Amino acid sequence: MKNMENAGAVRKPEGTQEVRALFQKLPKASLGFFPTPFYKLERLSGELGVNLFIKRDDFTGMNLFGGNKVRKLEYLIGDAVSQGCEYVFTFGATQSNHAMQTVSACRRAGLKPVLYLVAIVEPDEADVRSNLLLDKIMGAEVHIVKMLPGEEEADAEDRSVEMARAHMKRLEAEGHKCYEVPMGGASAVGSAGFIEGYTELMEQAEKLQQDGVMGHLDYIFHGTGTGGTMAGLLAGRALNHSDAELVSIHVSHKDEGYPARCAKLANEALALLDVEPLVEAQRDVRTDLNYYLPGYEIPNEGASEAIRLLAEKEGLFIDPVYTGKAFAGMLDYIRSGKVAQGSNVVFWHTGGATALFAEKEILGNLFE
Ligand SMILES: *Cc1c(COP(=O)(O)O)cnc(C)c1O
Repeated sequence: MKNMENAGAVRKPEGTQEVRALFQKLPKASLGFFPTPFYKLERLSGELGVNLFIKRDDFTGMNLFGGNKVRKLEYLIGDAVSQGCEYVFTFGATQSNHAMQTVSACRRAGLKPVLYLVAIVEPDEADVRSNLLLDKIMGAEVHIVKMLPGEEEADAEDRSVEMARAHMKRLEAEGHKCYEVPMGGASAVGSAGFIEGYTELMEQAEKLQQDGVMGHLDYIFHGTGTGGTMAGLLAGRALNHSDAELVSIHVSHKDEGYPARCAKLANEALALLDVEPLVEAQRDVRTDLNYYLPGYEIPNEGASEAIRLLAEKEGLFIDPVYTGKAFAGMLDYIRSGKVAQGSNVVFWHTGGATALFAEKEILGNLFE
């Protein structure tokens, strides 16, 4: 970690080019296809009475199934390569988008992927689906960590990390260098990718504003899990002098310490760029726990309705675990008037459509 009192600390850069220049010092693996598309959803905008735009991070690449993790992995894998690592360990649920994208990134960079995956939904050995299927096709070393009777998800996750660290210790003792990517890629290094992502959005919004397609950017909605994406977006927002309101819809249960932890992560990511802390939880973080229930990977009707709506009105797909719940939250804000009519609203599509091909219990009821 860089010293925050660093003498050369940059206050706030002026304009996106100056922000981009700050990234030159960070090792990066070029994995995705950027910028991802950004455009107005005409039919839904008309129906909802707002100007609704979509940031298509489901198109980040590298394989058919993009998503937000690719932005983080460009810096995480860049870091692993620059440290001369051979193995990359990471964590998640058995249908983790992050785990699958990490395997893909490792294959691309010539690193060996090892996954420790918690079976929140038990996979059927005889009918392996979705991301777990893709992990196996890519030949990742997969360790499934079964939940113990009565165990909380967070405890099973901690246990998976302990198991992986013991494994890394054995490999290191044999002279193999290992890199640990936390769940969701939510480290300062990973979050830096979303500082860049926010900067990319600013450039695209400016262009649409010049073309008269977009007015002042009022809101950005996205789904939040580990918080790495939110941390990067908060940091990017501050660094780019943006006053758009970032609304982060939870996809899983989190305790009261979550906003402060995400603000801290945002400031650690800024420190990597030699920028002083700019994010304050109280002032900048706006999260909403009202749309994820009954729980992570458990479908709800709001998400199902959102999936159907976007598919029927715009011909595109969101998923039951993350983007469906986030979109449902945004719809509720718009329909209830919390977001004023005529606002310019961005939905950040973070990917995850592979969940449409996961176990039925994850999918929910998508047909009326
Ligand atoms: C991981 C993920 C998120 C949440 O991102 P975090 O950085 O973990 O908060 C949102 N949407 C999709 C599709 C994801 O895979």
